Amino acid sequence: MGELIRKIKVKSVLNKQKYVDDWFLSGYSINPYSGCSFNCVYCYTRGSKYGEHQVPGLAAKINAPEVLVKQLKNRARKKEYGFIAFGSATDPYLPVERDLKITRELLMIILRFHFPVHLLTRSPLVLRDLDILKKIGKKAIIPSELEGKTDTGVVISFSFSTTDEDLARIFEPGAPSPQERLETMKKCKEKGFRVGAICMPLLPFLSDSEERLDEMIGKAKEYGADFLMASGLTLFGEGPQDCKTRYYKVLAEYFPELVPKTRAIFGNSFAPSRKYQQELHERIVRLCQKHQIRNKIY
Ligand code: SF4
Repeated sequence: MGELIRKIKVKSVLNKQKYVDDWFLSGYSINPYSGCSFNCVYCYTRGSKYGEHQVPGLAAKINAPEVLVKQLKNRARKKEYGFIAFGSATDPYLPVERDLKITRELLMIILRFHFPVHLLTRSPLVLRDLDILKKIGKKAIIPSELEGKTDTGVVISFSFSTTDEDLARIFEPGAPSPQERLETMKKCKEKGFRVGAICMPLLPFLSDSEERLDEMIGKAKEYGADFLMASGLTLFGEGPQDCKTRYYKVLAEYFPELVPKTRAIFGNSFAPSRKYQQELHERIVRLCQKHQIRNKIY
């Protein structure tokens, strides 16, 4: 049975960021859909933090291509080139994209206006669009602030909170499996793309230990990642759709012994303690060095 989806019209699809994001290189972001059917428990784009501006459920921004033509034409005329990030608030390759092809149409427009792209996904469906991405990589105009830092106009990243299949089924119930993502990353690498693993968020006491991280970073390297960026979990909100509520509910169901430990490192904050974050950061840097993988895109 197909995924239920509403079709909506939007006034804007290209979001300009205040600053160029140092981690993702992006100056703009695009989300072809509102909502995300991958349904990750820790996702903060639903609920009260960002989700209050979203329509409920999953919706396709059906007029996004015509809106993007106008917006990119304007930016290109002013030579305001910048990496466009896909994947900040919804995966650009949800199952509905197979039929609707909105992401594909948007990429064709981006190619026409010579903008560079950073795609972040969990889905093998990205393989369908490698033909366009190849052309974007050749034609893209690199923004002046990134000149000398990047030699390509296309970066393809894959998201992981874990590479353990059982854990992924619990915390990312609607997403393609970690193994599928790894194999897709390898295929993109073999086609000559710059690829990476974005391990965010790492799950406290589940995927953040020395042993688990060692395994995850080793796998990313084995499957061709040019870089790996990782960071810890953040938990927002008290409402039923907020990730904090959902995360503790799932933790209580599957790993009740971790509830008090997790609460202890968060205290009253949305982020884990400084000590936890510092130790995690040091572990990531050390293990990236061990596996000889960069922990930034460039
Ligand atoms: S894939 Fe990303 S946007 Fe979609 S539910 Fe998961 S974390 Fe949220």
